[in-house]
Order: sequence, then structure tokens, then C-alpha cells
Amino acid sequence: MKVVLLYSGGLDSSLVLRILQEWNAEIYPLFMYNQFLSCKNAPELPDLHVLDVSKDFIDIVRNPEHGYGKNLNPCIDCRILMLKKAKEYLKQKKGDFIVTGEVLDQRPMSQHLEQLMLIDKKASCEGLVVRPLSGALLPSTKAETEGLIDRNLLLAIKGRSRKIALSMAEKMNITPFMSPSGGCLLTDPGFCRRLADLMRYKEKIEVRDIELLKIGRHFRLDDETKLIVGRDEEENNTIETMVRAPDYFLYVPDTGSPNALFIGKKKNLERAAAITARYSDKKNDDTVEVYYRLKKIVKAMKVQPTSNEDLATWRI
Ligand code: SF4
Repeated sequence: MKVVLLYSGGLDSSLVLRILQEWNAEIYPLFMYNQFLSCKNAPELPDLHVLDVSKDFIDIVRNPEHGYGKNLNPCIDCRILMLKKAKEYLKQKKGDFIVTGEVLDQRPMSQHLEQLMLIDKKASCEGLVVRPLSGALLPSTKAETEGLIDRNLLLAIKGRSRKIALSMAEKMNITPFMSPSGGCLLTDPGFCRRLADLMRYKEKIEVRDIELLKIGRHFRLDDETKLIVGRDEEENNTIETMVRAPDYFLYVPDTGSPNALFIGKKKNLERAAAITARYSDKKNDDTVEVYYRLKKIVKAMKVQPTSNEDLATWRI
């Protein structure tokens, strides 16, 4: 049998990979990357097919047909998208069925029986998805009715506890690549606050906008203007590489200073400089000279560093 495995590198899909190997399946592991994952690289696995679904994902996050979970996580629509893509890959590989590491009732939004069935239906994958960790508790799939797998091989794991999966992993000597949370930023309240602000003020969200949400302190200066201030050397370097005209690049010279990225209306530049000064080592000075650069032209302005009280007004 030939299968496409939705593989994240987490505990559950790593276990299922091992189970499929024991079944002697021909496995086509598929990792779906989207920009809202906190990991920078795909897990390491031979023959892993990596598919970037970031563009589809931005639309889903903005307008999820089946709503959000606790934060801005549109889990049901996300799973539907993943199964649709997995089905395309299955066709391409002329495979028999799709396999996932999902566990019944493990996640509140997308893994109750009713939701699993809805997701299969909406993705046009009814009967096509085998979930070995909970399969004994789920309706039969085509793989069983067509005799490709024996129902007795399916496990009956259920619920949020990781105990059974962890003890299986220990016995099988498996070290998962990712944490159980899967590193999805859409479940992170701080990230979601910045994302909600972006969706409120920007109609057309680009890949770069999401990348910027992952770094720095964010300040909303007006409907069209934002300032992002680096928090450490790595973020400062990233900010410098992400400046793109007509953005301004701000910093305080000759002292410990963050790099800051200003996007928007120039009339807010002085306020942005004052915030940048507040995070520099000169924050206690009465006035601070802040450099601002557009393309290759660097100018300077003297500002009074923003007070803590004022910071709170602009911070997202
Ligand atoms: S937590 Fe994130 S990656 Fe996981 S199903 Fe929900 S939206 Fe998708």
C-alpha cells in the first residue's frame, strides 16, 4: 500500500510514521509549511515533501469559514486545507490513502469526532483518511473495507493526555522534532494581538507583513503607520534586512540602540524617533539625536525620549 502521511515532526506523526513502517507501507511524508509556524526549517526526514501553503493560509486566517479557536487559530479550516493538499499529493503519487497522527478528542477545536468527519467531508476526503492512533474508535475507512489494512491494527488512543503516546515513543526510541504544541503562532496571544491589529488596518496582507509580526516591539501610530523596534541583536539585524523603500530605518548612533523600522506616514516620524530613543542607552537624556534613513540618505532629528506612559498608548 502507498500512503501520504501528514508529517509535522511532532510526537504523534512520528509515532504514526513508525507504525506505517511496521505495516510495510510505501510512505510519502508531506510537511505543510505556513508562515504561522514558529519553526524555521522543516523536520529532517528522508524523502520529505515540503509544501508552502502560506498564501492560502493568510486568506483562511482572515476569513475562516468555521471560525477561530481560543486565539486566531482557524483549526478546522487549516485541517481542511491540509487534507485538500494531501489529496492532491496522493493523486500525484497514485497512493491509496492519507494518514494523519490525529488523536480523537486531543484538541478542542478540530479533533472531536464530529469535527474530524466534517473536515474529511469538506476536503472531499470521506473515508480516505486513516488515523492509526485512534482508528479503532472511528468509523471504518476505505482502507479497511477494501482490505488494505486490518482494523485490529488500529489503536484506541483518545483525549488530551500524552501518556500513552509518550510511553510508545520511549519504547520505539523515537525523539520528536517538534513540541506537542506544533509551534503554531496562531495559538500565541501576543502574536495574535499583533496579527489582529494588522488585519484591522491592512487590507492586502503580504508574506513580509507576517514575517515582521514575529520580531520586535510593535507600535501603532495611526491607521497607516507602524513602528517596529528590535529587542536584541538578532532582531536588529533582521530589521535592517527588511527595510524596503519608502520605509525609514531608525537608530541612535554611537550608543546601545535598537534598530527600528518605520512604515507609514512621515508626519509620525518624530514620534517614532522618540520611541526609538526610549529604547536606547540614552533613554534618560533630555534630548537624543536619532538618525533616520530612507534609501541611502541619512538625516538626524533631536527628540525627547517617549515616557513609559506614552509608550503604553502606542504599543500593540
Ligand atoms: S493549531 Fe495552527 S497549525 Fe494546528 S490546526 Fe490549528 S491553525 Fe492549524
